[in-house]
Amino acid sequence: MTEEKWENKFRDFLKRYCWHDILKLANEYPELRSIEVNFTDLEQFDRELSEELLQTPDEVIPSAEEALKQIELPVEKQLHDAHIQFTSIPNKVTIRDLRSNHLLKFIAVEGMIRKATEVRPKITNAAFYCMRCETVNYVPQSGPKFVEPGECEEESCGKRGPFKLLIDKSNFIDAQKLQVQESPESLKGGSQPQSIDVDAEDELAGIVKPGDRVVVNGILRSHQRTTREGKSTFYDLVLHCNSIEYLDQEFDELDISPEEEDEIIELSNDPQIYNKIIKSIAPSIYGYENIKEALTLQLFSGVPKSLPDGGRVRGDIHLLLVGDPGIAKSQLLRYMVKLSPRGVFASGKSASSSGLTAAAVKDDLGDGRWTLEAGALVMADMGVAAVDEMDKMSREDKSALHEAMEQQTISVAKAGILATLKSRCALLGAANPKYGRFDRYEGLAEQINMPPALISRFDLIFILLDVPDSKMDANIANHILKSHYAGELYEQWDKLSTSTITQEKVASHQKVILPEIETELLRKYVAYARRMVYPIMEEEARQHLVNFYLDLRKMGENKDSPVPVTARQLEALVRLAESSARIRLSNTVTLEDAKRTTKISLACMKQVGVD
Ligand code: ADP
Ligand code: MG
Repeated sequence: MTEEKWENKFRDFLKRYCWHDILKLANEYPELRSIEVNFTDLEQFDRELSEELLQTPDEVIPSAEEALKQIELPVEKQLHDAHIQFTSIPNKVTIRDLRSNHLLKFIAVEGMIRKATEVRPKITNAAFYCMRCETVNYVPQSGPKFVEPGECEEESCGKRGPFKLLIDKSNFIDAQKLQVQESPESLKGGSQPQSIDVDAEDELAGIVKPGDRVVVNGILRSHQRTTREGKSTFYDLVLHCNSIEYLDQEFDELDISPEEEDEIIELSNDPQIYNKIIKSIAPSIYGYENIKEALTLQLFSGVPKSLPDGGRVRGDIHLLLVGDPGIAKSQLLRYMVKLSPRGVFASGKSASSSGLTAAAVKDDLGDGRWTLEAGALVMADMGVAAVDEMDKMSREDKSALHEAMEQQTISVAKAGILATLKSRCALLGAANPKYGRFDRYEGLAEQINMPPALISRFDLIFILLDVPDSKMDANIANHILKSHYAGELYEQWDKLSTSTITQEKVASHQKVILPEIETELLRKYVAYARRMVYPIMEEEARQHLVNFYLDLRKMGENKDSPVPVTARQLEALVRLAESSARIRLSNTVTLEDAKRTTKISLACMKQVGVD
């Protein structure tokens, strides 16, 4: 009764709002099998109907599709299994907030595709041939389990078969399983991302790739878990996809208000801006000004360029920190993941099957099918991938990293899966030397277990030695103690009503570890610069970089230098100089930017042993 009502309403709606799309569908069916309906249109047309779609989609969507099939077309055509894809669904639920009250509702879930299985046919209507009476029985297949006929539907027969499945008389659709994971920008404070499985069928199968940022609109369903002891009382969630929308991949969603924009521009005019930003990077870690400067340059990044011949040069800056244990490498990485708008943390020795790059695996999601799974460098697309313990990464990752770092893509060719995934991220790596301590007289490649070709893809490499130095050690010790103390007090302050500790005392401790520029503002500053500033190099700056590069080449000639000097270094210098200009929000790379770049570059080279 009500379903008929929905169907009538939809007939009016479709005629009024979607006539053009329906004509297109009629023309191109069955290559095209769906029309798209924007939820806002439906809401405008009939509020009750749109609300009902969200609450009882299992009744409303079939009625809507029935209305579509029944519509009188100007051409002779039957739209047997045409679908309606509803987009712009207002019921947005974050993956970690999915609860049982969302079951069977129409919802929208935002995230990144983490895994995608191969596309395979799925039977929707099975034709069974009765071997006794020769009747064909049709059994619709809607659930995950294959349903066979009980007894023959032919009354005079009524026997329990035997039956034979007729493949050519059965109906199939394409089906794929996806796993959508919370995207790095939606995670606060580096928490572990959560994910949800998605069923994509028919036209929706095979259209997305791991790493894509999407909104999946669909109906949340549950499947009973089975354990070795039988059926469990727990249910797993699956989102049954109705439509998929792509999100703008280029920019992160940080909203910058006009007031904040003013604040950012004012900051950029401060002659102390470089120092201020450097002091805002991991203030709880003492020293390492040069590394923090490099981390700043990495945050702002150079400008990616498309060459006239179709080539592309990355703008992202890759950094590598090598050094003795216990000198805050991991801490710096974790801090940068929190600071950058899209940061992903991973470890080279992680147990995950996808590793750092991507892998074709057979796991639960695919139910025996091959599944393409994205690793950290894909999930960090358009962000920063911080990879700790790079010395311990797998051989597969090592070879895939060559492509990932330079072309910023990851190609997978294994089992039926052929795919190229995007990994446009800046890599911040850390590696421990093989024998625990770094030996400056041994080769770098040998000690961190990475081939020189891979090492040469880093724009800057820092070597941190833990050499006892009493003045420095005292400073670090004081700094660490102060920051511990300040952090503790910060949390306890509210509870301390009758304390001898004055607010000023706490403030003086906190001053050491509070960033100069507040983290939220700095993130916006970075986003603003990357969005708005595309600097071009001045002649003087260009000349300075070229001369520096030529000198490097000369030095490389007469010495078997640990890191080969190639044109890559020149590209690295350009990126770093561009980033330096971006920090001031300047559209010109000046001689000063070039000098900052060569200074930091030279400092790195010296440690590696080019001098
Ligand atoms: P690594 O990854 O280099 O082995 P970690 O990042 O795990 O080292 O650091 C070990 C500990 O030492 C951390 O708690 C870190 O905060 C502390 N530490 C080391 N050097 C410094 C420093 N310069 N300033 C502040 N803390 C430091
Ligand atoms: Mg570590």
